Amino acid sequence: MADSTTDVLICGAGIAGIASAYHLSVRHGIKNVLVVDERPPLSLTSDKSTECYRNWWPGPGDAMVRLMNRSIDIMEELAHESGNAFNMNRRGYLFVTADPDRIRTFTRVAEEAAELGAGPVRYHNGRPGTQDYVPAPPQGFEDQPWGSDLITDTALIRKHFPYLSERTVAVVHPRRCGWFSGQQLGMYMWERARERGASDREIHDTVLIAAAFCMFNRYVDGLGTWAPTDPDVYRQRAPITARDGYASSIHRILAQQP
Ligand SMILES: Cc1cc2nc3c(=O)[nH]c(=O)nc-3n(C[C@H](O)[C@H](O)[C@H](O)COP(=O)(O)OP(=O)(O)OC[C@H]3O[C@@H](n4cnc5c(N)ncnc54)[C@H](O)[C@@H]3O)c2cc1C
Repeated sequence: MADSTTDVLICGAGIAGIASAYHLSVRHGIKNVLVVDERPPLSLTSDKSTECYRNWWPGPGDAMVRLMNRSIDIMEELAHESGNAFNMNRRGYLFVTADPDRIRTFTRVAEEAAELGAGPVRYHNGRPGTQDYVPAPPQGFEDQPWGSDLITDTALIRKHFPYLSERTVAVVHPRRCGWFSGQQLGMYMWERARERGASDREIHDTVLIAAAFCMFNRYVDGLGTWAPTDPDVYRQRAPITARDGYASSIHRILAQQP
C-alpha cells in the first residue's frame, strides 16, 4: 500500500460517499481523500435508483424543499460544467386524478409546496386571463418554469397528455423535477475527485489481498492439508524458495514424494 494515513476517510462509495469525495477534494481543495468500500463504486443502492429528482415536497416544515432546491442548484452547476454528461432533464412530475373531489386536495398540496419554497402555482382552468401552459421539453433542463401547473381545463389536459384516460379531471405538473443518470453523475464526480488526488486504490489492494487469503485458507482446509510445526523447516525452505522461486520449490517437494 502506498499510504498508511489519509486526511479524510469516507466509508462507502455510493452516491453519498462519492459526492462527499467530490466536494471535499474538488470544491474544498483537500488533497488526500480516501474512499473505502468492499464493492465497486455505485454498485449497491446507487445503481438501483429510478434516478428522478424533485423539489416538490410537502411539509411539515420546509427542510426537504430547501435541501432539494440547493441540491438541484448543484446538479445544474454540474450539468453546465460537464456539458450535461449525465443527461439531466426537466420533464417534471405528473400527478393525475379522475376524481373531482381530489381537485381540492391537489390545490391544497400545490399551494402548500409553493408556500414552502417550491415555486408558484399557475392555475389553468379554462377561464379567460389565465397564463399559458408551457409544456416541458423532452431533453434539457435550462430556461424552464419552476413551481407547478394545476390544470383543470380538460381540453388542455387532452391536448398535452393525450395518453391519459378521458376520465382525467385534473393534473398537477411540478416543474423543478425530472430525471438524470445517477451513475453518470456519480462517475463524473468520481473522475474529477480522482484528478484532485482522491483515491480508492489502497483499499482495493487490501480487499483483494484479504479475499485471496480467505480463498487460500478455505482451499487448504478443504484439501485437509497440514503444515509443519517445526520452525526449522521454514528456515531451511525460505532461502530455497527465494533462490528458485515458489513454483520450482513446490516442484522439488513433489518430486521427493513417493
Ligand atoms: C428501487 C429504488 C428506487 C429509487 N429511486 C430514487 C429516485 O428516483 N430518486 C432518488 O433521489 N432516490 C431514489 N432512490 C434512493 C437512492 O437510490 C438512495 O438514496 C441512494 O442511492 C443512497 O446512496 P448512498 O450512497 O447513501 O448508499 P449506497 O448506494 O447503498 O452506498 C453505500 C455504500 O456503503 C458501503 N458500505 C456499507 N458499510 C460500509 C462500511 N462499514 N465501510 C465501508 N463501506 C461501507 C456499501 O458497500 C455501499 O457501496 C431509490 C432507491 C431504490 C432502491
